[in-house]
Amino acid sequence: MISEQELREGVVENMKAMDSAGLNHGTAGNVSVRFEDGMLISPSGIPASMLTPEQVVPTQFDGSFTGDFKPSSEWRMHSGLLEKRTDVNAVVHCHSRFATTLACARKPIPFLHYMTAVTGGAEIPVAPYATFGTQDLADSILETLDGRFGCLMANHGQIAVSTSLKRALSVAEEIETQAGYYYGTLAIGGPVVLTDEDLKNVAIEFKKYGQS
Ligand code: 13P
Ligand code: ZN
Repeated sequence: MISEQELREGVVENMKAMDSAGLNHGTAGNVSVRFEDGMLISPSGIPASMLTPEQVVPTQFDGSFTGDFKPSSEWRMHSGLLEKRTDVNAVVHCHSRFATTLACARKPIPFLHYMTAVTGGAEIPVAPYATFGTQDLADSILETLDGRFGCLMANHGQIAVSTSLKRALSVAEEIETQAGYYYGTLAIGGPVVLTDEDLKNVAIEFKKYGQS
């Protein structure tokens, strides 16, 4: 069982890792992890470089919170996912360059590389636009993900979910990598997109991949 302190440190580590990997800048982005019957979420408007574990905010799914720091303005998006998706324990949101570029052009990422499938489907969709911090945005994300692990957010950025903070971060990193590949291929005539048959074969190999 991971302690509250370790989870707080994990939220801060994820925020700092996104910053140093160039996935975020300034106060963009937020991170949450399931905790008791609510979540621990990054505070609103504090840049990752200044973030400490004490500033991470214990927040209920209805938005009530304890402590001196306000939770991320996107708490609705995080709580909606953690409440409705029992397969999800962590949520990562960022404004990474290539994912956000495609999101602003409202271009879903097609199945151009086998690793696109780490988000749980053939393509990485774009959630319809809604103002940041609103329930409309939270609903849009939940509906677009539809059981997947990541999507683009129209004119905003990207979001990734998984069973742990580390895994959610690696999904966000992969979305950014795939977005970079797609952006690159668009400059040279567009990608050759893989097939449904290819997706089935990738899913078989993913089950066997790695050490366990
Ligand atoms: P917060 O600083 O409130 O988490 O907002 C950043 C953001 O990315 C909003 O979408
Ligand atoms: Zn954002």
